[in-house]
Parts: sequence; C-alpha cells; structure tokens
Amino acid sequence: MPHGYNKSILHVDLTAGELAIEEPDELFYRKYMGGSAMGLYYLLKEMPPDVDPMGPDNVLTLCLSVITGAPISGQSRLTTSAKSPLTGCVGDAQSGGFFPAEMKFAGFDGIVVKGKAEKPVYLWIHDGQAELRDASHLWGRVTGDVEDMLKEELGDDKIQVLQTGPGGERGVRFAAIMSMSNRAAGRTGMGAVMGSKNLKAVVVRGTRKPRIADKEALNRLARWGVDNLPQSDIAGLGKYGTAETTGGQQTDGGLPTYNWASGIFDGWEALDGPTMYDTVLRGTAEGKQDRQGRHTCYACAVRCKRVVEIAEGPYQVDPRYGGPEYETTSTLGSCCGISDLAAVSKANELCNKYGLDTISCGATIAWAMECFEEGLLTLEDTGGIELGFGNAESMVKMTELIANREGFGDILAEGSARAAARIGRGTECFLTTSKNQEAPAHMPQVKRTLALIYAVNPFGADHQSHEHDPAYEPYPERMAELGLLDPQPDLALNAEMVRFALVTQHFYSATDSLNVCQFVYGPAWHLYSASQLVEVIRAVTGWDTSLYELMKVGERRLNMLRAFNAREGVGREADTLPGRFFDRPLKDGPSDGYVLDRGEWQQAVDTYYAMCGWDPETGYPTRAILESLSIGWVADNLGL
Ligand code: SF4
Repeated sequence: MPHGYNKSILHVDLTAGELAIEEPDELFYRKYMGGSAMGLYYLLKEMPPDVDPMGPDNVLTLCLSVITGAPISGQSRLTTSAKSPLTGCVGDAQSGGFFPAEMKFAGFDGIVVKGKAEKPVYLWIHDGQAELRDASHLWGRVTGDVEDMLKEELGDDKIQVLQTGPGGERGVRFAAIMSMSNRAAGRTGMGAVMGSKNLKAVVVRGTRKPRIADKEALNRLARWGVDNLPQSDIAGLGKYGTAETTGGQQTDGGLPTYNWASGIFDGWEALDGPTMYDTVLRGTAEGKQDRQGRHTCYACAVRCKRVVEIAEGPYQVDPRYGGPEYETTSTLGSCCGISDLAAVSKANELCNKYGLDTISCGATIAWAMECFEEGLLTLEDTGGIELGFGNAESMVKMTELIANREGFGDILAEGSARAAARIGRGTECFLTTSKNQEAPAHMPQVKRTLALIYAVNPFGADHQSHEHDPAYEPYPERMAELGLLDPQPDLALNAEMVRFALVTQHFYSATDSLNVCQFVYGPAWHLYSASQLVEVIRAVTGWDTSLYELMKVGERRLNMLRAFNAREGVGREADTLPGRFFDRPLKDGPSDGYVLDRGEWQQAVDTYYAMCGWDPETGYPTRAILESLSIGWVADNLGL
C-alpha cells in the first residue's frame, strides 16, 4: 500500500446502478496529486463536450488528495468538479470539515459519478465497501434532518455525510454541496448537479488511516504549527473567524456595500468578527465561546469555524448550521445595506439548511435590491416584498423563497445574470458577475489584480484563486520562495503585478489540487509557507518532491480548467468583468472615486495570456503549453 493515498477511485454509474473500483498507478497520483486536477482528469476523459449541466451526461467528481487525512492542520478538504449549471463552464468548489478525512479512512481517494438514478439514492461507503441505497425518505428534507436520519439508520454517530439540500434538489443554480450541515462547497452550483442526478448523499465511515512515510518529520511539522499559531498572522482568524477581516476591508475602502456602489459601510462594526465573538457565538453568555462557539476541521489547530446560537428574538438560529463567514456577512450584510447580525446569521442558517452558496445568494439579492431602488423592479415583480437596501426582513424572506423556488425567488434562483436577462429593463447594468458567477466580497477597484483574475478565472469570479495585492510587500522572504521580489505601488496593474497574479495563481491552483486550506498554507501571511507545504508532502508520501513540481501541478490544473472551457467554445470573449467596475466610480471613504481603467485592464489580460503561453486570439491553451506540462492527451482531446 502506498503512503498517503489508497490507490482506489470509485466509479459510480447511477443510470445502471453499477459501481466499479479503479486502481491508478503512482504516476497518476504524482502528476495530479488530487483535488481539482484529479477531478479535471476524469471530466475531460469521461464527459463529452456540450452536455446539459443538469442532465445525466454531466460527470460529478469528489476528489481528495495524497495528503488528505494526515494528522496535521489544514488538510481535510475535498474538491467537487462538474460542468456548472450557473456558468456553463467548468465548475469547481472546495469544502472542509471532517468528511474528507473520513472518506480517506473509508478507503477511497476519489469518487466519479455519472448518469442519473431512477429514484433518489445515497451512496454508503465503509472500509473499502460501497453500495447504493434508497434515499426516497430523505428527499426534500433539510440538511440537519438528513444527518440525523442517516446516523440513526446506520446506527453510527461517527458517519460523515456529504449531501445536496432541498435547494439542489430544486435546481437552484447556485446550490451548494454540504457536509456537517454547515460546511459548503458553495461555488458554481455543484449541489444542483448532485440533485439533478438524484444523488441525495454520500455517507462515509472508515478505519483505514493513511500510511505516513516519515511520521517523525510530519509530527515535527504539526507541532511547529501548533507552537507558532499564537504568534502567527492567522491567530486572529482562529479567534474571530474570517469576519475578522471586515475592519481591514472597511479601512481600505474595500467592503462591498449597497451592491458595490461603495467600499465602506456605516454599519460594519455590527458585522465584524469581534462583535460576532462577543454577541452571538454559542456559549457567549457563560464566556465559553472559545470552547463552544468555535469549531474546526479534522486535525486543524486553527479552529476558525463559527457556531452561532440565537435563542430569542425575531431571528433564532440553530447552532448546528454553524455561523457566517466574512463573505456571508458582506454579501448578505453590507452588500444588502444590512447591519443586523442576527438577520445575517439567520440567512446563513437558511443557506446551510437548504444548501445554497451564501455568496451568490447574497449578491443576487443585493443586485435585486439595487434594481428595486432604481425602480427597475416593482412590488408586482417581487410579489409585494419591499426589497430596498437595509430591509433585513425582506432579505431573510427572499433567501427562503430562493431555496424553495417560490414566487420571485424562483427567478432569483437562476442567479442574477440569468434573472437580468429574463427581466431586461436595464437591470443588467447592476450585475456583479463574471461568467455568470457573482463576485465575492473583495473589490478589484481596491486590489487591482482581482480585476484580472476575476475575468480570466475559468470558473468565474473567485477570491481564492491567487494571492491578493496587499500581501506582496510585507512578506519578502516567503514571496521570494516563488521568485516574487519586486513589490509594486498600490493600485498598480502593470506587468510585474500580472506576474505576481499568475505565479500565485499557479500556487493556489496547486493548493486546490492538494486540497489544503488556504488559510493554513500559502506564500504570505499563512501559518505554513510554500516550502513547508512541500515538506508536508514529502513527509506524508515519501516522494522526493519540490516546490517546482508543486507549481507545475498548479499550472497543469489551470490549463486543464481552461481546456475544459475551450472544448465548450468558451475562451477570451468570456473573460470579462461587470461594466459597473469600469463605469461607476465608488462612492465615499478611502476608495471614493476608484474605478478600473479599461485600457489598462485589457493590457493586463493580453500580458497574462502571453505569460500563460495561450493563444492570444482565443485564450485557449496551445498544444505546446499542454505538452510542456506533460498532458499532451488534453491537446488530443481538444483536437489541437
Ligand atoms: S483554518 Fe479553519 S477552515 Fe482551514 S482547515 Fe482549519 S478550521 Fe478548517
């Protein structure tokens, strides 16, 4: 048995009701390492072009990596890939928790799902065994109920459940895949793909801990992380959660507010991490929120996850559905002009209960609110709901309507870009989408390389696909590991900043293949540096690997993502940004008047393609670049 992985991929044909196990060789694991790159391998090999994302020919992959389940912080994550019903391009979403490690212990490194079951089923995997079981009784149930019912049915409290919620069953185009009822693989609508296949859940349980090549070295690295965490830049993230960044975003004028009209929000403090810690975390009244209000992922010392409990008032929140991240407090909070943390926590609970991406959900509601304020949507459209900015009650109501696809929620469940196309009347002017995916809560007007990456990223606007501009200068030693030696002035989008974006994109692309948490491993403020991540891979697998090899995994995965889109005929013409980023200067605060320059942005895109070695006309990868990455078969697949 190899070190780190099981050498076992489960193939599931839901139409035929058949399961098969593949045992790939070591070269496969070393070339792709897991996660997104591994999923892409199967998408490109096993899915023809032009399939209906919600049809049986779509292929859904759930992939771990060669280090998932090792006893060290930040490794228990899973990548979900499929063609996206939101973007029509490649779909890609990561999530953490305890499911990924447990799936490794259950004996598999990846699951490749094809076809569509005749009636709802769940996949039960335990210690190398797998079977499909009837899930008719689980269909339509919210995530927390499904967890409880499966634990009772299987007679084991320690099972881990990955599932689509009622939102995914109903085809909400930004439905998430959930585990623990509060960990979301949120982006690109992977929950809708799972629902379209009548696959309600994947349940895992196992005792096969991965073999570690050099236990002593791994223990040393794990201990280093625990010892250095209190002095590290992510200590605050652990205590206050990702919402801790709210204050910094406000100070920089980069907190999306009123659907991106401004980068500052008067009510920001009510949404901030310390406020959440002092008011709504479970155990706050007894001063026990560190113990009861913070949660973690398997073996992670950081414990950044929130557990919110609100027992009284108009917005009561069940702690099993976790608590909001920064992206959520911004998209459902400041973007909607709402500073009521209880209401935002309630909407977060609903998203986790029904399985929705909080970013797309909040951003879509914020877009509708601005359209309502501008008179482009009326009470007749909204079914009598006053949808102006700041209306917390309407925001919570609309979240529920989207999850159930009821009333105006049925239109918003298509995502804001499709809703605007359907409604017309100029509502498209207020979109914040790239490739139909709503932008997350980081503003390209303030961090300029986001303008490039939001546009060129193959699965739409994403904030975790490269390092953000402010991290270049303060971490010279760590940046030097990636050859980044020349920080540029604020707001620059010149060739060096394009290089910074691309090099860090390759690194982050590798982390999404190794499935490591981007708070724990990275090239700047993270707990472990890039070279320490290499040490972890060496210790777990025994491979004499290097940062060079890791960066090539990242570049390979990025090119496979672009190749998937190229097969669908999606290239340069789709690498765009919302018009408002260029045409509507931000209002107030330190970013008052900030707007992107079209000429400068276009030049950055041209430079980026040239640095990638892609065709400048189409934006597609070339045969030469694919062969340089040892994936000539992808060029064959594209007919190059
Ligand atoms: S840092 Fe937070 S999200 Fe990342 S693995 Fe640890 S607990 Fe999970």
